[in-house]
Amino acid sequence: MKRSPRRIAMLTLHSSPFGELGARDTGGMSVYVRELAWELGRRGCRVDLFTRRGPAGPDTVRPAGPNVRLVPLDGGGREDDGKLGLYPRLPEFLRSLEAFRAADGGDYDLVHSHYWLSGCLGAAAAARWGAPHAVTFHTLGVAKNRSGCGELEPELRLSEEEALATGCDRVLAPTSREREMLIRYCGAPPRRVAVVPCGVRLDRFRPLDRRASRERLGLAAEDRVLLYVGRFSPVKGAERLLEAFAAMGRGPRTRLLLVGGDGPGSPSTAALELRARCLGISGEVSFLGRVDQGELPTHYSAADLLVLPSYYESFGLVALEALACGTPVAATRVGVAADLLDPSVNGLLLEGDPGALARGLEEALRRARAGAWPRSGVRASVSVYGWDRVADAVLREYQDLAAAQAMGESCPVAASGGEP
Ligand code: UDP
Repeated sequence: MKRSPRRIAMLTLHSSPFGELGARDTGGMSVYVRELAWELGRRGCRVDLFTRRGPAGPDTVRPAGPNVRLVPLDGGGREDDGKLGLYPRLPEFLRSLEAFRAADGGDYDLVHSHYWLSGCLGAAAAARWGAPHAVTFHTLGVAKNRSGCGELEPELRLSEEEALATGCDRVLAPTSREREMLIRYCGAPPRRVAVVPCGVRLDRFRPLDRRASRERLGLAAEDRVLLYVGRFSPVKGAERLLEAFAAMGRGPRTRLLLVGGDGPGSPSTAALELRARCLGISGEVSFLGRVDQGELPTHYSAADLLVLPSYYESFGLVALEALACGTPVAATRVGVAADLLDPSVNGLLLEGDPGALARGLEEALRRARAGAWPRSGVRASVSVYGWDRVADAVLREYQDLAAAQAMGESCPVAASGGEP
């Protein structure tokens, strides 16, 4: 059996894995990092999670699970510098990382970076320490730019992602579609790209009594409830969801609940509220703000349908979470939804243009209300997505990299063979 790397440096520079989920920079990546670190820690790996010191980040080193520590990095600059503002400060972050390693008195066997900014830092650290470097991008700039969401990622990000995709030892892609993107648009060597899906906490996300869940949220049994859960970034498509909702044949008591965003009065929430007013649907749409993940099963269980209207998702955790709660999903052809949704089992795929989105929602809601997707079958469709399996698969990739390094190979083939 291959030996597991003992000490892992996990980098998630721009966003703390323990920040408030649903806010601008804190979503699926944070969930992924905290769940993976926890599972790896339980398997005996010692994991240090490095993130920038800041308002949402840690101040001092603190435990974050069995064998897991959260470690703040200093890079100077201002707290509210955006992600790109961190780039010129990467040398300071590297010094801080190296100072921690030296003071802590240990070497890392492997570096796993999350998102391209951390990837840049991780590449420098891994080269310095002679450790293998794995990268999970979480989103790809080139994919976002091609999605038509109206936001363009800068050339700097695109070129750094390309350099990382071609230069690191292993890229972990969450779907085979993302793997194809990495190969086609970022030049990643196919043998170095492994497909390892993301996961869901099947113990937390499980079907709750629908009537009781509705009561808790002030909804009636006869309400026809569509739910959106996510950040309010343009790529997530909340605006086109409002437009489709306004255009669809809705019938009485149809409600759209939006969970997430940066809170009341924030520019992103204010813009969507204004859009809803202009569309004349304010009375039917509720902005619930951020909700603690522990509370979300109530929202999923109360809804007839989770809608994922994104222009692009690398994976799309909320789809798994809703399905684990027995709630069907209507999603554009993105992330895991494109692979997982089956009209005879758990939901519908939607086309993204405004008319088709509205018609698709109408049809999905009709089928959900008619009981076309029994909850047990919906839940069963994601039973293989527990985080324990994800961690096992990631660990196989780590072991592979460690074994190749021990044998002096520079470029081992992905353990998953690049197939899901
Ligand atoms: N989330 C949350 N509370 C909110 C909004 C979102 O806990 O108010 C969580 C949600 O449960 C999911 C994650 O944030 O685990 C969003 O992940 P996803 O992959 O769907 O989107 P991303 O943020 O990566 O684009």
